[in-house]
Amino acid sequence: MFPKEFLEDYSLFRKLKLDSDLSERVDYWYKVPINMNCSLCESNQTFNMTNAFQDDGFEEWVLEAPDRVFHLKYICQSCKTFDRRFFIYVNKEMDTCYKVGQYPEWEIKMDKNLEEILGKHSKTFRKGLVCEAQGYGIGAFSYYRRITEEIIDELLDSIVDLIDEKDKEEYMSALQQTKQTRVTQDKINIVKDLLPLILRPNGVNPLGVLHSELSEGLHAETDEACLEVANHIKSILTFLINQIIKTKEQNREFSESMKSLLNKKSK
Ligand SMILES: [Zn+2]
Repeated sequence: MFPKEFLEDYSLFRKLKLDSDLSERVDYWYKVPINMNCSLCESNQTFNMTNAFQDDGFEEWVLEAPDRVFHLKYICQSCKTFDRRFFIYVNKEMDTCYKVGQYPEWEIKMDKNLEEILGKHSKTFRKGLVCEAQGYGIGAFSYYRRITEEIIDELLDSIVDLIDEKDKEEYMSALQQTKQTRVTQDKINIVKDLLPLILRPNGVNPLGVLHSELSEGLHAETDEACLEVANHIKSILTFLINQIIKTKEQNREFSESMKSLLNKKSK
């Protein structure tokens, strides 16, 4: 019913489109287990929903879903003590829902690699997370755009090591061109098509998406529209940084093991 990803990750007021074939009667809805941190177990655990959808404290006898706020209670399957609550509004047309409340509140959690890499910029990133948690999309978008502007040169530089030898020259000359402009979108535009395959999950080009989202965001005026764009920018930055670190790590391990293998052979 409410998808796992929606319950686990969506911030307040971020809208989700509902399936058009969703029943208007809540007794046909199924309960989805979720995986989140348990403060008592101090680890990620499965949480199961323990109440019925219609148990909202007001109209337990009403089974109709449209234009209603639901109160979902989830409990940790391991300690059976720590619980999580979600308050979710479903609109009259039954095509959209969003969280209006959550306890414990949506976590301002920052990816560990990201925090380390961003260093002094991580404060700006954290402000973006805070805005996102409150549903302030315009604010979140502005902070994530700022971060992108601050780190874009380093980010593009760090991709060099992941480029195949034969394509390196082309990338390096594009990289030189990026130094001529101060506009982030222009920089991205110059190198986006030269991105190595390892940085393109399922053929999607994250720099291409980043480029269009940064341009798009300027025209997206509502908090709601900006929230969506901000979330994409955040995910792309997180993916790129993590993937670059991972690949460099793997390359180093690979060349080290090759070296020791070759050393062994030569002896
Ligand atoms: Zn627990």
